[in-house]
Amino acid sequence: MRKIIILFLLLMPVASFARKPIIPEIKHHKIEARLNIQKHTIDASDEILVKNRENLHELVFFLNRNLRVKAVQVEGNPAEFQVVPEFSAADVIRDVRKDTKDFYANAQLLKITLPPHLLNLFRVKVTYAGKIYDPPHVPAYARDAAAVETRGVIGGKGVFLAPESHWFPAVETSLASHEVTTNTPSGWETVTQGARISHKTEDGRLTVHWKNDHPADGLYLIAGRYDVRELQAGPVTIYTYVFPEDTALAEKYLTYSAKYVKMYSKLLNPYPYKKFAVVENFFPTGYGMPSYTVLGQTVLRLPFIVYTSLGHEILHNWWGNSVFVDYATGNWCEGLTMYMADYYYKTLRGPEQAKEYRYGIDRNYTLYVNDKNDFPLDRFLNRTAMYTRMIGYGKSAMVFHMLRRWVGDAQFYEALRNFIRHKQFQIAGWADIQKEFEAVSGLNMTVYFDQWVHKTGAPRLEIKDVSRHKTSGQKWTLGGNLLQKERVFRLRVPIQVYFRSDTLDTVLVTAQAKTPLSFSFDQKPLGIGIDPDYNVMRRLNHGEMSPVLSLALSDENAVIVLPSRSTPEFAEAYRLLAHQLIPPGDGMIKSDVEVTNADLKSGSVFVLGSPEENAVYGKMGAALKGRLAFRGKTVSLAGNTYTGKSVIAAFWNPLNRQKGLCVFQAASPKVVRSLGMKMMHYGKYSYLVFDGTKAIAKGEWPVKENPLIVKF
Ligand SMILES: [Zn+2]
Repeated sequence: MRKIIILFLLLMPVASFARKPIIPEIKHHKIEARLNIQKHTIDASDEILVKNRENLHELVFFLNRNLRVKAVQVEGNPAEFQVVPEFSAADVIRDVRKDTKDFYANAQLLKITLPPHLLNLFRVKVTYAGKIYDPPHVPAYARDAAAVETRGVIGGKGVFLAPESHWFPAVETSLASHEVTTNTPSGWETVTQGARISHKTEDGRLTVHWKNDHPADGLYLIAGRYDVRELQAGPVTIYTYVFPEDTALAEKYLTYSAKYVKMYSKLLNPYPYKKFAVVENFFPTGYGMPSYTVLGQTVLRLPFIVYTSLGHEILHNWWGNSVFVDYATGNWCEGLTMYMADYYYKTLRGPEQAKEYRYGIDRNYTLYVNDKNDFPLDRFLNRTAMYTRMIGYGKSAMVFHMLRRWVGDAQFYEALRNFIRHKQFQIAGWADIQKEFEAVSGLNMTVYFDQWVHKTGAPRLEIKDVSRHKTSGQKWTLGGNLLQKERVFRLRVPIQVYFRSDTLDTVLVTAQAKTPLSFSFDQKPLGIGIDPDYNVMRRLNHGEMSPVLSLALSDENAVIVLPSRSTPEFAEAYRLLAHQLIPPGDGMIKSDVEVTNADLKSGSVFVLGSPEENAVYGKMGAALKGRLAFRGKTVSLAGNTYTGKSVIAAFWNPLNRQKGLCVFQAASPKVVRSLGMKMMHYGKYSYLVFDGTKAIAKGEWPVKENPLIVKF
């Protein structure tokens, strides 16, 4: 996840915001910060370079409300200032959406009166000090993300100062460059944006000077008792800042970081910064900031991170952290980063892996996104609930995939390189992307971007009336109709025709609810497949998907059926799990003796306990036939037998074929409690078997019959 710094450059009529302060353009922050770890305090000054503009009589900055302003100077002379501890967000912030207000919840206002006749560029220096200590905590209700919150912390475990901690005076929106000199007890290393210019210890204190010449949309300061390693990758210095107990991991992170920096520098344009640092955090995060990433200890220790998330975070230095996102027109950077990182690595492993990944995107969109929660890509900000991820990451990645297939690799990368050349260190939106792709291809892409970016939804395809005829000699024709169900899109649909010894790949352009298919061949066609490799962003047909756990996990109308015949310990554990799985206000939780057929039809059903404990198997058990069978403590599943293990498996709901049925039988109440919310991570599987909490078997049921592939 990329840390999102909300920036809204909305052009509002001046009259309606007459009372709001003018936002000046800040060119540069030069911060000197002395940290006292024991006292949790910062003692700092910020010399701010401001661009003058007409009618600018006053500057208004946001600053952490625990910080005391000691002095303000304008062009070296003492200036009048006023601190306003309480303010109404509506009076000063241009964007007053809920999350934006939250961003300023911790701030006070610093109002500085400006003397007349200032130059075009002038300097304001603010000297301030105070305590910032909000130890990371888990918010009251977090279903989807491993969310830990802090409003900034200077503490013995580490220092984490994010833009929302307002640790230096900043305005609502500005792309400024930054320079930070930190002073910490020796043994404490700091990291922030840009290059490390100097690093020296004197009298038991360490002074580090960081400088980023390029503008950025916010600034973090991180510090900890780090072991620092470095490696040169061409012009870029790679660093690892890890805790002493994790130094064994440093080598691997250095090597892989260098590899990704080189790979993307070649594929795109040169890496935009002088350094890249992998920084270990003392609480769970997965943030990518300009020129570094901050990963929680648990994440850093996962063996697969160097193959997946690390590359993703490094690529964000191009997408999102140097070409910045214009959030007012939608966050495009996650889809593009997912496409060029997570998906790209699958393509390097082979076409089957890539196909499976695309299938997963289409499948998850189909399962998690519905008419009620769907929104267009130009409204995506960042991922919150699962469905937002399926749109803002998954669908967005497919929009880039279809673009690449349309214009070809050469033009695809050329357009992206031009996008960087024109928009680096500026904010950019989908319109800029469209412009670059139209420029290199000479194509008009209005319809494409309109239907995929500015509108909701995805097409669903069907094939009907397929027939083949022998005309004369060895000539054959193949006909049929391609149907677009739901809304009609303009699509380039890949089609495969199968022959005895080879396969023909072609593309059909459709922009209608019904498009006739008509082919003639010199040999006998044996079958036809519509988008068999999932190259189109689309809603999958029921028959293209095998039932998976996310059917039930993603359904806000899910029905959880509790067992009435289990032991009190089991009953209590299952009851707690049910309340974890269903957010307050969603779905229903009933016992097997209360639940009605109408309830079981109303959504995906989650059955807890075995058939001995839960009577609802009597109504729904037929769905398990041939796949899962219970015999006392023994279960047979996917051709294997397990005793004393926990099993979770998904099927189609026999009373409502569009919905899922999920059954979970645990080996002990303890397993129910410890597996609990971990289930959320297993949504893509049809079944799992656990020994304790360790998955010892997992898989997806094979798809029985794909309705988009017709064989004669
Ligand atoms: Zn990302």
